[in-house]
Formats: sequence, C-alpha cells, structure tokens
Amino acid sequence: MFRIACSGKSDVGLRRSNNEDALIIDPDRGFLAVADGMGGAASGEVASQIFVDTTREVFAGYEAQSDQVVSALVQKSFLLANARIFNLAKENADRQGMGCTAELLAFYDRVYMLGHVGDSRTYLFRDGVLRQMTKDHSLIQDQIDQGLITPEEARSHALRNVIVRAVGVNEELAVDLIRGEGQPGDLFLLCSDGLHDMLEDYQIQELLSLSVNVNEKAERLIEAAKAAGGHDNVTVALCEVT
Ligand code: CA
Repeated sequence: MFRIACSGKSDVGLRRSNNEDALIIDPDRGFLAVADGMGGAASGEVASQIFVDTTREVFAGYEAQSDQVVSALVQKSFLLANARIFNLAKENADRQGMGCTAELLAFYDRVYMLGHVGDSRTYLFRDGVLRQMTKDHSLIQDQIDQGLITPEEARSHALRNVIVRAVGVNEELAVDLIRGEGQPGDLFLLCSDGLHDMLEDYQIQELLSLSVNVNEKAERLIEAAKAAGGHDNVTVALCEVT
C-alpha cells in the first residue's frame, strides 16, 4: 500500500483583491483537488468553493475498494459540481457565466485517477523530469494543436486565458480522466494558471528538484510565482508517493 505526503497552498497574488482559487487536501482518504473560479460579482470564488465542497462530500464516506470506485467518485465529483454551479447560475442573473476549472487526483493503492477540466494543470515530476499530464482546454491550445501558433508564442498571447471548457458553464460536461500507476518518489503537482502563467516548466522543475519537503516546495512555488509578477491568484497542491 502506497502512502502519500501532501501539501497545498493558495495565495491571492500581487494584483488581485480576492482569491477565486480553492483547494482541498486529504492524504488519509487519498485525494486532492485544485479549482480556479471565474465569473463576476464574486461568483468565481463561489464556483471553485462548490467544486471543493462537492469533492469533500463525494469522498466523505470513501473507503478504497477498487480503482473503478475511485474513477466513479472522481467523475461524480465533477458532474455533481457541474450541476450545482450550473443551476445556481441559472437561478441568479448576477451569477451568469460562473464556473471553474478543476484538477482532482485520487489514489487507490498504486493506481491514480486524475480528472481534469479547463486550464489548471497537473504535472508529474518523476525521476527528475517534469511532465505536464493534462492538456489545457483553451483556445490557444486548440491553435497549437492546429499548428497555427507555437507553444512559445502561446505564452505571451493576449488570448491565452480564454478557456473552452469549464465546470458549471454548460448542462453537459466532458471530463478528461487519466489513469496510471504511481511509483515511490513520484511527485504530483496540481496548480492554477496563476502558477504556470508565471513560471516556465524548467523553473517549476528546478524548484521541485530541491531537497526539501513538500511543504517547503509548495511555499517556494508560490513565492516564485509572486516574484515573477503574481498577476493572478496562485494555488498549488503537491502530493508525493512515499
Ligand atoms: Ca486563475
């Protein structure tokens, strides 16, 4: 049986007055999640909090039985949060367009299940190499896929924050599910775009390579994103397989 060590931190950053990100970490039940809200009139923070609360509720009675169960719970968290946010927006004119991006990682023994929607990201740092596990659901990613722009051009593109899929915006939601097997030493990083917009992958990799614990790594990531400008709320959740 694998054990995991987790740490999560969220910071409002240097330019915004409120934090629309939310996170949850539960190493005992073996899951963690990051959500990044959007929508005016404080709707963003409501949406991301609904995602986190829904995940907590769905996993509340959770006892790992099989990886199929974990997969179903990940899927259920997204779909239930989607319905709740969508209905709340439908009933309140000032909450139109509210939604959130989200990453949810859950374990059953050595198997992990990752759910992903939007432009928050999950990375896996394994054997000293950082790899982005998720693909952004963004206008710019679509253009990269079509060969219209390069990833380098995308980093500074004016429309880089336009997302094409989010939790709570439509009645239906397609969730990217990624399943795999963890290895001792694996370090998973879930983060909002306030981190990966500010830091390049090589910088994230350098910080994750430091010989410090996950708490300290989470701190360093947040500080580095702020040192690079801190334009947005920045949230990281780290999970190390021990
Ligand atoms: Ca953001």
